[in-house]
Amino acid sequence: MSSVRTEKEATTTLSEALKSAKTRDADGDAVVRALKSVTEDNAPEGETIDGFHLVIDALKLNGIDTIFGLPGIPITDLTRMAQAEGLRVISFRHEQHAGNAAAAAGFLTQKPGICLTVSAPGFLNGLTALANATTNCFPMILISGSSEREIVDLQQGDYEEMDQLAIAKPLCKAAFRVLHAQDIGVGIARAIRAALSGRPGGVYLDLPAKLFAQTMEAAAGKASLIKVVDAAPRQIPAADAVNRALELLKGAKRPLILLGKGAAYAQADADIRALVEKTGIPYLPMSMAKGLLPDTHAQSASAARSYVLQEADVVVLIGARLNWLLSHGKGKTWAQEKGAKRFIQIDIAPTEIDSNVAIEAPVIGDIGSCVAALLAGIDAKWARPPAEWTGAIAERKDKNLSKMAATLAARPSPMNFHSALSVIRDQVKARPDAIVVNEGANTLDFARSIVDMYEPRKRLDVGTWGIMGIGMGFSVAAAVVTGKPVIAIEGDSAFGFSGMEVETICRYNLPVCVIVFNNNGVYRGTDVNPSGTSDVAPTVFVKNARYDKLMEAFGGVGVNATTADELQKALAEAVASGRPTLINAVIDETAGTESGRITSLNPATAKKK
Ligand code: ADP
Repeated sequence: MSSVRTEKEATTTLSEALKSAKTRDADGDAVVRALKSVTEDNAPEGETIDGFHLVIDALKLNGIDTIFGLPGIPITDLTRMAQAEGLRVISFRHEQHAGNAAAAAGFLTQKPGICLTVSAPGFLNGLTALANATTNCFPMILISGSSEREIVDLQQGDYEEMDQLAIAKPLCKAAFRVLHAQDIGVGIARAIRAALSGRPGGVYLDLPAKLFAQTMEAAAGKASLIKVVDAAPRQIPAADAVNRALELLKGAKRPLILLGKGAAYAQADADIRALVEKTGIPYLPMSMAKGLLPDTHAQSASAARSYVLQEADVVVLIGARLNWLLSHGKGKTWAQEKGAKRFIQIDIAPTEIDSNVAIEAPVIGDIGSCVAALLAGIDAKWARPPAEWTGAIAERKDKNLSKMAATLAARPSPMNFHSALSVIRDQVKARPDAIVVNEGANTLDFARSIVDMYEPRKRLDVGTWGIMGIGMGFSVAAAVVTGKPVIAIEGDSAFGFSGMEVETICRYNLPVCVIVFNNNGVYRGTDVNPSGTSDVAPTVFVKNARYDKLMEAFGGVGVNATTADELQKALAEAVASGRPTLINAVIDETAGTESGRITSLNPATAKKK
């Protein structure tokens, strides 16, 4: 394999080129052009391939067909060339949303989503999404262009100088830098493997500007690329671990299955459904596991959530962590004072076990293999849970569901969260293949419990961090990778974090309908500034804002909906037409509650309680 030139030669010629390039012009390519001319001078004879094309070919070789990103120094040409070479390049207005799109694409497809950014600030903007992807166990690769090592390491003040690799490392699963064209294949293979294998997560790949311009002999370049074989190897659980779990489950009087988004990611849908149905055990889906079995399934215990968490004696966690979203498996939520719960936990990460409470029967492996192994132990003689337990759940469910039905049927003016969400609930029932994206405080909490999901991986939301700002990035990814209609249910505050991406939605003419629940502020729009100055309270927005006009500005459809009927009509039209649409749903500004359902995490409010 031929190297382009020695490092010393390269450094000398490059620094000369950089000096002569002088400018770091706005379109970003003077430096790369200068570098390219130098490397071309040093190029091997015969047919050559440059770093740009090695990166593109390595991605294509591994089945990557889409890049989410934002062009600029030093990756502008990479985006152009990638498009020319047949990759789909979706350009965003801010890197965080490109990163969120990559993360959602990773979750939906089991292929690492790729986010491409410029150096320093662009990299930092993408980093939030990378950290969020890692926290949520979504596979993604953040690829950022960077400044030259020689200048960064001596802190000589390069354009957008930053030691990106060092900064990324603690925030993701793995981080790599490639300095030589002949290592691009290895770099991308390692990034893909790290993102997908074991517990999936975010990977950072640092590509300094001069790498793109390096050239090498074409055949050697091609030979240096790696097609990753079996990137997410199955991990078969040990037989004794499976037996231990089955024994514990057999003795349960009030068993419960808890499905998390790891179960949704694993795409073991048929076996998971079979496990639930063959055992007859009631189940609870975490929010992004909704739809693994239809929310209307007879065994769903969602409408009796508090009751089953408190009363269950054996809980089977499948791809769900006992983190804050499950009150760490402790306290009032679990009624631990009534005696210790016994847990079976299926997870690919052995270190997850015992992270909050003791896990009596860990089953370590990939969810597909673990669930299949458990299923093999469930035969015709399996005793279904006692009728006392399933009957008590059904009773509570019925009571709660009929109470909720009455609330949802009301048509108050202005709309409240329930009346608006009942319209969306009906639309999702009519189009169960539509993908729901959901963020906000009250908008999130109410939508999660009101809008039933019917198919796996159709709900994308704020995830493990409860983060705001995923809305438009997730929506773009969902539309791009599935081609299905997307319904983004957005609090007005949450929408603000990524609202400018409606231009992206219009530019690519994506079938996304954004519904902004506009109640004039964060939580609600009624706070008053007690100080007497003219500023509004920190949680209050411009009153009666018309978010629909934002979509119209870019050629999409904007609708101002003040009644449930108007909302229903606009949403049905949007889903049927597939045109980018934003519905400004006017909600009673007094309707929200402080911090939504997580009031207890708000120090001042918690203290008052
Ligand atoms: P939720 O927020 O829905 O409760 P979490 O993100 O807390 O879900 O948990 C997901 C869990 O699933 C993680 O602990 C992760 O290790 C695990 N996981 C992800 N993919 C797989 C897989 N293919 N097989 C087994 N476990 C997985």
